[in-house]
Amino acid sequence: MYDVLVIGAGPAGSTAAKVLADRGLRVLLAEKCALPRYKSCSGVLIKRSMDLVKLYFGENVPLSVTCEPAENRGMIFTNDCGREYRFAQEGLNVWRSSFDNWLAEKAGESGAQVRDCTTVVACEEKDGFVEVTLQGKETFVEKAAYVLDCEGVVGAVRRRLRKETLECITTYQTFNEGTIDLDPHYFYAYLQPELSEYDAWFNVKDNLLVLGVSVKDPARIPLFYDRFLGYMRERHNLRINRQTKEEKWLMPHVRPGCRIDFGMGRVLFTGEAAGFLNPMGEGISAGMESGFLAANAVAAHFEDPRRVCDVYRDSAAGLKSYMERQWDLVAGMAGTFREMAF
Ligand SMILES: Cc1cc2nc3c(=O)[nH]c(=O)nc-3n(C[C@H](O)[C@H](O)[C@H](O)COP(=O)(O)OP(=O)(O)OC[C@H]3O[C@@H](n4cnc5c(N)ncnc54)[C@H](O)[C@@H]3O)c2cc1C
Repeated sequence: MYDVLVIGAGPAGSTAAKVLADRGLRVLLAEKCALPRYKSCSGVLIKRSMDLVKLYFGENVPLSVTCEPAENRGMIFTNDCGREYRFAQEGLNVWRSSFDNWLAEKAGESGAQVRDCTTVVACEEKDGFVEVTLQGKETFVEKAAYVLDCEGVVGAVRRRLRKETLECITTYQTFNEGTIDLDPHYFYAYLQPELSEYDAWFNVKDNLLVLGVSVKDPARIPLFYDRFLGYMRERHNLRINRQTKEEKWLMPHVRPGCRIDFGMGRVLFTGEAAGFLNPMGEGISAGMESGFLAANAVAAHFEDPRRVCDVYRDSAAGLKSYMERQWDLVAGMAGTFREMAF
């Protein structure tokens, strides 16, 4: 019997597992992929994420998880009228496989049992515990007093429990050898409705030019991606010599009001599984903070499961309000996000 079974070794899950293990609880962190696992991402750690790493993990993000240029100097975004906004901020440019693996290792060093290649396929609350079915080389069952579901956007366990699908946006990005007249230290987001159905973006990782679009209807990826390439060629002198990789992923489709599902009873949702995501797809900070807050609620009220979810929800009010303010800010700058204004 574990005290807490954490599903998913992303920023939310590894933070939660570390915090719980640090408090002396018996923790299993189950990750369906082999670690280090791949995650499609721009890999920008904003200052808030760097500060949370320092706060929860007691050290700075190591340079070994960064890619070139290691320093991210902020975000520049162009709104639906073509106006440019520049937000200078200290940040880091990381490979998610390395960064997330480092977080999982830290959870392990704190005493959490980390099991990769292990998928949680079901969990069911019983009288006084949660019964969790896992699939590795074989299928087996574990019991835990609590489950923290940190499984990210796909959220298959959450979907089974809630009997509803989290609404998603599809992301598509390519990695390319080539040249462009933009500063590689910045993350660029483009909010013109003709370039994407959410946002389009550009950044640089280890000298590769990363170009992406996000869409509500995946069938429209080629249309928007071609238009975005055309725009970048014309405005920023983009030249692509060779595409080295392409990938599709999902992110939560955040709606007005920023609905968050905190979970119920002995099963709590965190990170993207709960619906946390800031504008321009910044989700690492919210993942880590919600993982921390859920873990805190469990550790502080372990013997009182009726209070745990409410305590988590209340303690995350500030995080939710930060997310709402971020969306409100973007809504004030771009008509494409006006529906998100409060
Ligand atoms: C294209 C793109 C670019 C992005 N760029 C940025 C960025 O630059 N900066 C930023 O802050 N955010 C960015 N994000 C968002 C960020 O990646 C996510 O918000 C963040 O990873 C969420 O963390 P999480 O821990 O909730 O979930 P995840 O990081 O998705 O981790 C969930 C983990 O759970 C595992 N899992 C899933 N189901 C199961 C199961 N049933 N059993 C066991 N394990 C399971 C998964 O394999 C995964 O390892 C981007 C997202 C996308 C799609």
